[in-house]
Amino acid sequence: MITTMDITISKAEQSKLKDVNLENLPFGKFFTDHMLEADYENGEWKNIEIKPYQPLLLSPSLAVLHYGQSIFEGIKAYKDADDNASIFRPKDNFERFNISATRMQMPTVPEELFMEGMKQLVTLDKNWIPNKPDHSLYIRPFMFSTDELIGVRPSDTYKFMIILAPTGPYYSKPMRIYVEEKYVRAAKGGVGYAKAAGNYAAAMYATAEAKKKGYDQVLWTDAFEHKYVQECGTMNVFFIIGNTAITPSMKQGTILDGVTRRSTITLLKEMGFAVEERKLGIHEIIEAYKANLLFEVFGTGTAATISMIKELRYKDFEMHFDVDKWKTAPLVKSWLNDIREGKRPDKYNWMVKL
Ligand SMILES: *Cc1c(COP(=O)(O)O)cnc(C)c1O
Repeated sequence: MITTMDITISKAEQSKLKDVNLENLPFGKFFTDHMLEADYENGEWKNIEIKPYQPLLLSPSLAVLHYGQSIFEGIKAYKDADDNASIFRPKDNFERFNISATRMQMPTVPEELFMEGMKQLVTLDKNWIPNKPDHSLYIRPFMFSTDELIGVRPSDTYKFMIILAPTGPYYSKPMRIYVEEKYVRAAKGGVGYAKAAGNYAAAMYATAEAKKKGYDQVLWTDAFEHKYVQECGTMNVFFIIGNTAITPSMKQGTILDGVTRRSTITLLKEMGFAVEERKLGIHEIIEAYKANLLFEVFGTGTAATISMIKELRYKDFEMHFDVDKWKTAPLVKSWLNDIREGKRPDKYNWMVKL
């Protein structure tokens, strides 16, 4: 553990902010003036630097390019009406980052490097946080292996970095979803619970196939029977059946423990729903739909917050939803956004002020 962490700060000579229109932002395309970089060598984190955002010079033998030890996080910073900036539940992401690191046989990152480094970086680029509803500054911490050696083994050296991207609303359009029965995202004993780059690579082919069929995303099912639902694309998924909200449980290690998922569970309980984290079979979903008890289906994640699902297709059976009539998903979304933008009391202490 680093006790008095030394961060070297070198500032950009000029800000690029004037070249970016914060009113019209594609997700993850523009980056702020600075980034954080640290190296892991000989069992410790060193060279901790905040410096102008710039390309890296990499060896073609860099371990991550071959064997993929690479993990990341996604966090958001917001501004309230008085221009005060805060970050949404970053400690939860810090803890999850180290869970991912451990699973990928990578070193953990000390809390001070992750949290303090992030706060200092965001403070330096504070002017990049858009002050507009549904807008925020997306924070992307990541780590990858950096040994220059193409032997298969865990790397001895790693790089930890944080970059920042101002962002507007992200796929908030109601989605058409294809229930996936051929390809698999995660199996028991695998790495589904880790935010590992390889999970995304492994999902792209199936997602592209679903898109060819006219769908926006897949709903992943379990690896053995393709019966139990897992996640929707890169979001956790919730089903409102009667007065109960159901979301797949974390027990098998196949589901990413989303911070938006946790927050949604808390808010649904506050709204009076019974919330169940358990196995949920596609046949139970279809039965509820046929009995007119399946009221809402939505995904949760940092990028989009809440994405409503207007169609679910399982084999030849289509379930259609009139999302315009929904009450719950829009309410969760507005409560979450209001808490983040300082318009609703932060009674769970989710916001960390800069
Ligand atoms: C990041 C992610 C989520 C959502 O997690 P949040 O902490 O809410 O952003 C859900 N599923 C997968 C696979 C993810 O990578």
